[in-house]
Amino acid sequence: MPDLDRIVREIAEEMAARTDRGDVATYIPELARADPNRFGIAVVSGEGEVVVGGDADMAFSIQSISKVFTLTLALGKIGNLLWKRVGREPSGSPFNSIVQLENEHGIPRNPFINAGAIAVTDVILSGHQPREALGEILRFLQFLAEDPAIGIDEAVAASEQRTGFRNRALANYMKSFGVLENPVDYTLGVYFHHCAIAMSCRQLAMAGRFLAHNGRNPATGFSVVSPERARRINAIMLTCGHYDGSGEFAYRVGLPGKSGVGGGILAVAPGRASIAVWSPGLDASGNSHLGRIALEELTRRLGWSIFG
Ligand code: GLU
Repeated sequence: MPDLDRIVREIAEEMAARTDRGDVATYIPELARADPNRFGIAVVSGEGEVVVGGDADMAFSIQSISKVFTLTLALGKIGNLLWKRVGREPSGSPFNSIVQLENEHGIPRNPFINAGAIAVTDVILSGHQPREALGEILRFLQFLAEDPAIGIDEAVAASEQRTGFRNRALANYMKSFGVLENPVDYTLGVYFHHCAIAMSCRQLAMAGRFLAHNGRNPATGFSVVSPERARRINAIMLTCGHYDGSGEFAYRVGLPGKSGVGGGILAVAPGRASIAVWSPGLDASGNSHLGRIALEELTRRLGWSIFG
């Protein structure tokens, strides 16, 4: 696709030249070391074409983007019973908010805010040792990205283990309502470690292919999830993927997407491509500032918004 090549190259150049970059997350001390001048983009089309720009091969902390894959695994494990443990409505609250847990008897609003993702992690953990559950999540990502080199940044995991007081509060609060089945420390240990998985834009875009192609890996034809499940995961990404900035992301970009406080965003152009962008500077909602602008430019220039 000559247009795609040119547009990705132009966007990478434009983002590199910008001086507005947002602020790197500091509440997890290890993330504060990220360089705000980095920008990467990777687009993997249904035909298997991989177009990259900027720092597309530099690994970064995927943080909440891991929640797309843990949601997929938990749905695979217990199916629609998952929705008894977590809702699927946008929260309109910050990613680490506790307020709605009180209103809804410890049931988190959706699987992509921290409380919801901790509940989803707890589902994956049940019946396993933490190490096995974490291994399952990591192997799933390696399999989807076709890259066994993907690993966990232990320094980031340890940093969050030491400082994740708010997540500990969320987990304890849910435990008090019986929403979590496993010891809180086990569930949080798996959660902190899957957030600390490090991947590049290229690896992430490869891992997201099944969501853009009706649940199938378009290269091998292998079915990861049913078309219906892929559609539903995309719907939750669209409505809940950017915390209290989800409406703004849909308005500006018009694609299902999931961001993480490491500055990455995975976006899905259904039937077309899986896209990953990364720039560590965040906006006020905790979403990558340049990542969002780059995706807005990409969808605008290619006409890829799902809203026509
Ligand atoms: N591990 C981070 C936390 O729980 C993930 C936050 C995010 O990326 O939104 O605070």
